[in-house]
Amino acid sequence: MGIKRKLSDIIREIFFPEGITCNVCGKELDKEQKEYSLCDECNGGLIGVKDGSVVRGEREIISVFRYEKTARKYVLYYKDSAKPYIADYIGKYLAERYVMAEMKADEVCYVPSSPSAIKRRGYDGMKYVATKFSEITGVKLNENLFRKDGIDQTKVTNEKRFENVKDKFMSRGGFSGTVVILDDVVTSGATLNECADVVLSHGADKVVCLTFAAACEPKTTTEEIKTSVCETKDK
Ligand SMILES: [Zn+2]
Repeated sequence: MGIKRKLSDIIREIFFPEGITCNVCGKELDKEQKEYSLCDECNGGLIGVKDGSVVRGEREIISVFRYEKTARKYVLYYKDSAKPYIADYIGKYLAERYVMAEMKADEVCYVPSSPSAIKRRGYDGMKYVATKFSEITGVKLNENLFRKDGIDQTKVTNEKRFENVKDKFMSRGGFSGTVVILDDVVTSGATLNECADVVLSHGADKVVCLTFAAACEPKTTTEEIKTSVCETKDK
């Protein structure tokens, strides 16, 4: 945890005490709104994904919310050094879905940021998300997965995403049993597919993918995904 995080925690505690004001609009909260630090209006901006899971790139990916309104703001916030604490809330929603879906995993890992993104932000937001998820669910955190620098997925078209992400992920060590891979947003599913391949080739028996948000309409085949127009990730 870097200095940036600690400083922003202090600033947050002074100006936005947890559970007292809304994480999105800053409005003062009632007692029953405090658990998630969202006022009713902003909480209403969290729109659940219909059916919960979609198949992208031939892999089932479970997503919690649609990538719009409050969920979209949360994804932007947790990568912002002024609001890294939003990662804890994202981790909480993911843990809830994990429990609700009765998923059973031995290890949890996350889609890591590239070295240049970590350098720019001072931290890897998904690491915080996964740490919170692990704390709540008791699933062991595995930090072996890492990413090489390359062209960001948001800079390429959907058709090029599977190709662009090829060989961008590696592992420092092994995985075991069923591994749940977490990410913030799924668009084409290319990144999660690639990570799943790496995790499986490093000892995992099975992988399940879980994301906080889903950026486009559920598609059933790789061809449909490749030709569809999805909102890009702000990564
Ligand atoms: Zn609000």
